[in-house]
Amino acid sequence: MPPAASIEDFSAPLFVAWQLTNRCTGHCLACCEESGPDKAWSDELNREEALRVARQIAEARIPYAAFGGGEPMAVPHVWEVFETLSDGGVAIKIETDGGRLDDAAVERLAAMRVDNVQVSVDGATAEIHETLRPGAASFAAATGALRRLSARGVPAEWVFVPNSRNLHEGVAAYELATELGCSVFVTGPLMRLGRAALAWDSLAPSPADWAATVEALEARAAAIGGPRLAIYPWDIEREIQCRLESPQAMILIVPNGRVKLLNALPFAPGDLRRQSIMDVWRSYQLAWRSREVADFVARCRSELGLLRHANETWPVPSIAAEIA
Ligand code: SF4
Repeated sequence: MPPAASIEDFSAPLFVAWQLTNRCTGHCLACCEESGPDKAWSDELNREEALRVARQIAEARIPYAAFGGGEPMAVPHVWEVFETLSDGGVAIKIETDGGRLDDAAVERLAAMRVDNVQVSVDGATAEIHETLRPGAASFAAATGALRRLSARGVPAEWVFVPNSRNLHEGVAAYELATELGCSVFVTGPLMRLGRAALAWDSLAPSPADWAATVEALEARAAAIGGPRLAIYPWDIEREIQCRLESPQAMILIVPNGRVKLLNALPFAPGDLRRQSIMDVWRSYQLAWRSREVADFVARCRSELGLLRHANETWPVPSIAAEIA
């Protein structure tokens, strides 16, 4: 069997994850980014800068761009960014609360190179969803968006973030996703990041309860043949260890154009305001092999509190000479 590819084998990323803004209308209890109505960064990329980055992504022939948030669909220039990418041959994935996906928006997406749209729905009932996601799109809006997307042939994915208050609705949520025509039901262990980390003791389900929910979801999926179940296998502690050993060929662009290794790690070795996307890719490769990142990940094994820095953007001094 040939050896597994490493990031150094790739001349460009295979995909970019891009947070256009940190602003949204929600104050969701389990938000891993601590986004919200007053959480836009003061230095977010403007329209011209974002379009320049989109053109570079297309020119570099990066096949795939995934948008998360904050709420990407609330950014005034989001459609121009999508059109630039789609026209340039880049497939788009969107993570959204669904509140802006009316018939006209879904029609526009259906005409583009959209791989899938993920809508966050954290319960099978309005009561649970809206308790967990205050200020974000209502249950009716989120499920309505999933229904419209599916009906129009845009792959619609239900994202269910499990916690101690909604586990009991997991199977019912899967059943409703089936009824709505979703193609995938996405879930995984609650991530100890952002607002979820702040409320960890009250929000985190026990490992046994999570395991029982996984078992129940798998049994229901086997019984009714609904959407494909995509259950992320790792918690955040395992995720960062595995990514250090085997980094993905992807970059994360945060709202001000800095480029991070992973949302759980505070290191931002690249800056798309100053560097081309190919130079950023080189910085990213070097940073994963740096002593600062290795030390931080090693410390996280015993100091979970370090993850409170996840949403910061630290430089990586040891690679400065190599990228100068
Ligand atoms: S989960 Fe989404 S809608 Fe909720 S606060 Fe975070 S970014 Fe905003």
